[in-house]
Amino acid sequence: MQKTFERMSPTDHQFKHALRQIGVITLAIAMLAAVALGQQKISDLKPTVILISLDGFRADYLDKFDPPTLKKLAKNGVRAKWMIPSFPTKTFPNHYTLVTGLYPEHHGIVENNVYDFGTVFSMSKLEEVENPRWWLGEPIWVTAEKQGQHTGAYFFPATATPIEGILPEHYRRYNGRVPNDLRVDTLLSWLDVPQKERPTFLTLYFSDTDDAGHEFGPESIENKYAAWNVDRSIGRLIEGLRLRGIDQKVNIIVVSDHGMAPVDGRKIVFLDDHFNFDLADKILWTNEIVQIFPKPGKLDEIYDKVKNIDHSTCWKKQDIPERLHYTDGPRVAPIVCSSEEGWGTTSHARYKSWVASQDEPYRTRGAHGYDNKYESMRATFIASGPAFKRGYVAKPFANVEVYNVVCKILGLKPAPNDGDLDHVRSMLR
Ligand SMILES: [Zn+2]
Repeated sequence: MQKTFERMSPTDHQFKHALRQIGVITLAIAMLAAVALGQQKISDLKPTVILISLDGFRADYLDKFDPPTLKKLAKNGVRAKWMIPSFPTKTFPNHYTLVTGLYPEHHGIVENNVYDFGTVFSMSKLEEVENPRWWLGEPIWVTAEKQGQHTGAYFFPATATPIEGILPEHYRRYNGRVPNDLRVDTLLSWLDVPQKERPTFLTLYFSDTDDAGHEFGPESIENKYAAWNVDRSIGRLIEGLRLRGIDQKVNIIVVSDHGMAPVDGRKIVFLDDHFNFDLADKILWTNEIVQIFPKPGKLDEIYDKVKNIDHSTCWKKQDIPERLHYTDGPRVAPIVCSSEEGWGTTSHARYKSWVASQDEPYRTRGAHGYDNKYESMRATFIASGPAFKRGYVAKPFANVEVYNVVCKILGLKPAPNDGDLDHVRSMLR
C-alpha cells in the first residue's frame, strides 16, 4: 500500500482525496436514511413458521429457570405441559422426527450412530451426514420446496443434506462456533426480499443448554445462564420481527429434542463383565444406549448373558416395548441395551480412557438418550403466533405431531407420517 501511495502524482493524490470525501459523504447519507426510514416493513407476509430448536432444553426449565422471552411466548401462545421425545432420546433421531413426523424406526436415524451400508453414520462424519442415503422420509423443508414455497435454515440436522435432491434455499453447514446473534440476524435478513422469494419456513438451532447441561448438569447455575442466553437470542429475533412489523404475524415454534438427567460417573455397567465382545460383529456405544450386532449365530448366546443385568435393560429387537416404536426399522440393532436413568453402560477400555481424559471424572454431569418414560427426558414445546391459541396449555403429546402442525399452518399437503393432527388440533385457532 505504502509504495503505491508514494508513486502517485499530486494530481492523483488530490483525486483520491476527493473520492474518499465523496465516499464518506455517501456513507453518512446512507446512515441518515437508514435511521430516518428505519427497517423496511414487510406488509405482505404469507403464513410463516420459524422453528427454533433449543438442544437439550428440558420441559421443566421454563418454570425452573424462568427465561423471560420464552415465558412471554408461552403466555401469549401455547405451551405443552411437556412434549414426549422419541426413543432413543438423542439429538439426531429427535430432530429428524420433529421435521418428518416419523419415529426413528421409520426415518432411519435410529441413534446418533447408525450402522448400515457396511459403515457407521455419526454426527461428526460430515461426508455421511451430508449423504442422503441415511435420511428416509421427507423433512418439512423438502415438502415446502416441492410445493413451491421457499425455506431457510440457520442450522438444523439434515438441512445441509440434499434429501430427494432438495436443499433449503438458504442453509449453512453446521459449525457450533457461529455466534447465536449472527444466526438470528442472518435469518432476519432472509425475510427482507420480495414476497415471491421470501421463505415461509425457517429454522434456528442453539446448542447452549445441551452443552451446559452435559458439562455441569441440568440443575446447575451454568445451565440456567445457558437457558437465559438462548432466551436473549430469541428476544433479539422477536425484536427484529417487530422492526419489520411482523412480530404478531410470524408463527414461532420453540422445541427441544430431549431433556437431560444428572449423571454420576461412578454409576457404570461394564458389558465386558457379561459377554465376550468377540461374539459381536459391531457394537455402537453411547453410555445411555448400546447397539449390539452379533456375529452370525451368536445372538442368543449374547442375549442370555445380558438379559438379566442390573441398571441396564437389554432387549432383543423384536421384544422392545411397543410404546418405544423401535422394533420396525431395518437399522435397529438385533440387541439394544438401554441404561437406567443416571447410569452408563460401557466397556472397561472406554471407561478407562474417559476417566483419564477428565480432570474431575466424578462430579455431576448431564446425559440423555435414556428411555423416554423418564421425566428427565421430557422435551419442550412452546408456540406463538396467529395460528395458535393464546394462553393455552396442551396436554403432553409425542414429537411426531409437530410436522403436521407446521404443514397445516403453511397450507402444505403432508407426506405420509406417524403423527395425527387430531391429537394436537386443539392448540390451533
Ligand atoms: Zn446432548
